Parts: sequence; C-alpha cells; structure tokens
Amino acid sequence: MNPVVAIIGGGPAGLMAADVLSHAGVKVNLYDSMPSVGRKFLMAGKSGLNLTHAEDWNLFLSRYAEQEHKLTPILNAFTADNLRTWAQELGVDTFVGSSGKIFPVSMKAAPLLRAWLHRLRMQGVNFHMRHRWIRWDGQDNLVFHFPEGEKVVHADAVIFALGGGSWARLGSTGEWVHEFHKKGISVLPLKPTNCGFDVLFSPLFFERFSGEPIKSIRAKFVDSQGLAFDEMGELVMTETGIEGSLIYQLSALLREELSRKGSAIMYLDLMPHQTFEQLLGKLTQPRAKRSFSTHLKKQLGIDGVKAGLLREALSKNEMNDLAIICRTLKALPLKTIAPRPIDEAISTAGGMDFEALNEALMLRQAEGVFCAGEMLDWEAPTGGYLLTACFATGRWAGLGALAWLKNKEK
Ligand SMILES: Cc1cc2nc3c(=O)[nH]c(=O)nc-3n(C[C@H](O)[C@H](O)[C@H](O)COP(=O)(O)OP(=O)(O)OC[C@H]3O[C@@H](n4cnc5c(N)ncnc54)[C@H](O)[C@@H]3O)c2cc1C
Repeated sequence: MNPVVAIIGGGPAGLMAADVLSHAGVKVNLYDSMPSVGRKFLMAGKSGLNLTHAEDWNLFLSRYAEQEHKLTPILNAFTADNLRTWAQELGVDTFVGSSGKIFPVSMKAAPLLRAWLHRLRMQGVNFHMRHRWIRWDGQDNLVFHFPEGEKVVHADAVIFALGGGSWARLGSTGEWVHEFHKKGISVLPLKPTNCGFDVLFSPLFFERFSGEPIKSIRAKFVDSQGLAFDEMGELVMTETGIEGSLIYQLSALLREELSRKGSAIMYLDLMPHQTFEQLLGKLTQPRAKRSFSTHLKKQLGIDGVKAGLLREALSKNEMNDLAIICRTLKALPLKTIAPRPIDEAISTAGGMDFEALNEALMLRQAEGVFCAGEMLDWEAPTGGYLLTACFATGRWAGLGALAWLKNKEK
C-alpha cells in the first residue's frame, strides 16, 4: 500500500520535504495552523528575499558556528548553487548582489511560492489549512485542532517543520516545545537571534535619533570568554536601542554575554577609514568663531546621530578634550542591556537538540518522526544562511523519511 506522510508546518522546510516526497510518488498530507502556507517566507520577501549567498563554500558553512559539523553533510547535499538551480526550475531566476547575497530577480518571495505550490499540487500534495497540531495521543497519533473541532491522524511517517518562535503572528509560535518536552524529547530553550538590543540612551537621544541609520562603521566586541567580533557594517537606532545587519551578526555573542553578565559593552569605530592621529590633526585646526558642533561637522563630518552618540558617551568636560573625542570616535562604548523579545527577532536559536536526532534527522525515540528547519538547534546570521539551511534540512528530512519508508517495506 502507498504510504502516507504527514508534514506539519508549511514554511520553506516543510514545503521542501513535501516536494521531495511527492516527487517520489509518496502521498503527502501537509498541515498548517494558518489559513495559508509560507507566511514568514512571504514576509522575508518584503525586504528583498535573500535566498542564499555566493561566498566561498567553506566560509558559508562556518556561518553555522557550533552546528557547522552537524549541518555540513546536509548543506553539501543542497548547496547555494543547487538552491539557485531549484529556483530556476520553478521559473525564478536569481542574481548575486554586490555583497555576494543571492536574490530572486524580482526580489520577492510571492512568485517563487506561487510556482512552488502549483508544482506541489500537481505532484498530489494535499494541503490542510487551519490545522494546528496540538499533541500526540496515547497511540502516538497526531492530534490536530481545526475549525470543526479535534482530529486524530495516523501517518506512516511524520515530518515536523514547525519553525522557531519569532513573529508568532505568521504561524511559528514555538508552542511545540512544550509538547516535545512532555514526551521527554530534548529541546533547548528558544532564544532570539538576529535581533536588536536595548541600550540605555537618554530619552532625548531616542526622541531625536530613533530610526536613524549609521553606515560604514566598525563594531568590535570581545566577550568574557575571549571570543572576539570585529566587522564593518551598518546599524539602525531604534526606540529602545540598536538593530541592523551589523548587530544581527553580533547577536549570538551579545545574547550569550548578556545572559552571563547582565550587560555587554561593544565598541563602535565611527570613523574606520581614519586613524586617531588623522582625526586629531583635523580637529586641532583653528576653529575661529565657529561653534564646536560646526567645527566637528566641517573637520570630521560628524553631525546628526554620530554627534548624538558622542554626546551620550562623553561628559561636558570630556567634550572639551579633543584627544578624548577622537579616541571615543574610534572606540565609542555602547552598553547593551538586553536582547529584544524573541517575537521581534528575525530568527530563533535553540530548538530540537541534534543529540535527540539521528543522521537522517529522525527522532531517536520515535521511529519515523523527523524534524527540519528553524525548529532545529542551529543559528546563523542573516545573509541567506537561514533559508538555505531550512530548505536543505527540509529536503534531508524528506529523503530520510523516504529511505526509512522503503526500508520498512522490505
Ligand atoms: C522579517 C523577516 C525577514 C526574513 N528574511 C530572510 C531572508 O531574507 N533570508 C533568509 O535566509 N531568512 C530570512 N528570514 C528567516 C526565514 O524566513 C526563516 O528562517 C524560515 O522561514 C524558517 O522556515 P521554517 O520552514 O523552518 O519555518 P517557518 O517559515 O516559520 O514555518 C513554520 C510553519 O509551521 C506552522 N506551524 C507552527 N506551529 C504549528 C502547529 N502547531 N501546527 C501546525 N502548523 C504549525 C506555521 O504556521 C508555519 O507556516 C526572515 C525572517 C523574518 C521574520
């Protein structure tokens, strides 16, 4: 008899698992709690869908930090190039941006999702929307809440692709963690990553500068374990602190330091293309009758939010000392006090413990039950690494389920 696979979660990971299995002729029932699938994927497309990255493959793999080795075979089986070919087969051409990031030509997720869903339907995937998985019953069947009540589903194999815990309004609420714990499955606490951080700026600073970007700066940070970060990039002032791509890259280190120490000080080099001596040389030029603010702007181009940061960091007295000003422009301390709540984060760290899964991403304690996507315990910066790993693990879990079903038939 043709086996039936239940996939729970219709994000990139679940859809990829459905693609692999339905292509192989397996009957797939895909369940999602929302009225439609791929809501976070569509949201990702709003700011330019960064599918993957064109950098050197070893560097790419290193982005997954502690889980690099667990994910390497999975990503090697579905590389950035494979992802581009896959998108092209769905009629979506991609391009490499100047930073190496890869986007669909349209920059959007909707055309890709539309073509993909069409193919999945053609391959026979049945979509069951507004079906929220709530628990296992005593016989390990799946119990769903749906508009008419509760439904018990038996499947020959199951793939969970429930996402992390951010942007809950798009479907991934992280509620699954509780049910998995109840079953004795090891799940690490979900934590925000690629997130903003709170900083104790003055109310006046927030009032004047929230929403202001700062481009081409360098951020440096060394945590209490000696792990160092030193990268160029840009950040944005928010209503409570800072966010932006440079901060997202640093978010794992900052978050862990905050949980250990309660605060973490990073340093910004606001003038990375000039040395301290060059800055001081320019600032000691006679300023005639100009105000100091005008002098700072004219000599160093420091005004607006950068001048605001300087005034936040220095006392009135220190603002009279040109050497202190130049030293601070090269290493402005920013004391972060907390990551933003998980719901605001781009993605989630923590999740399904890899130790609870075998190499095929199947639960060691539940034969035929696989997990994929952001719900697994890995994290990576923005840059296309998140989606690539979701696609790759979804595909891997789909292939794992296929192999497991074939083996069972023997
Ligand atoms: C604003 C934003 C921008 C982003 N931009 C990018 C980007 O450009 N590039 C990039 O690589 N990544 C980006 N990401 C991250 C990326 O979108 C996610 O990592 C990815 O969508 C995760 O895929 P997933 O399939 O694991 O989970 P999800 O996409 O979260 O899908 C999980 C699905 O499971 C369903 N579900 C959850 N619980 C249940 C349940 N109990 N029962 C039934 N269904 C359930 C949800 O409704 C959802 O449809 C962005 C994220 C955000 C929030």
